Amino acid sequence: MTAYTPPATLEARWRARTVPAAGSHLLWTGCSYLRFRGVMYKPARIAFALRTGREPVGYVLPECGLHGCVAPPHVEDQPGRQRIRAALRAVNGMADRPAVCGHGHDQATDGRFMTDGRAYCNTCLTASRTRPVAA
Ligand SMILES: [Zn+2]
Ligand SMILES: [Zn+2]
Repeated sequence: MTAYTPPATLEARWRARTVPAAGSHLLWTGCSYLRFRGVMYKPARIAFALRTGREPVGYVLPECGLHGCVAPPHVEDQPGRQRIRAALRAVNGMADRPAVCGHGHDQATDGRFMTDGRAYCNTCLTASRTRPVAA
């Protein structure tokens, strides 16, 4: 997690390509990347850095459920998403997730939460996606 504040000129360019939407969402109207001084920036990553003052870890996605939303309070990086979902799990009265999955993967590193707080093993999920279909 590197401290990072986007330069004011980059922020201005970013803001120029956003449009407010009902529900305090902020829609991105530009291309998938914002080019600034020869560097390509993902709009959602700028939104994240504007709010937190640091570089995001992993993918930055809107947690508000609106695809393409770049409202700084709505975007989260990978650790942020998992924190929110773990908290949701607690609120919903779900038990702590097991320390290891059925295949023995450490859930502190391999475990993820779905949007509703249900836990799953990312390593097992990835394995099931890459495994050849016909065995
Ligand atoms: Zn939003
Ligand atoms: Zn597993």
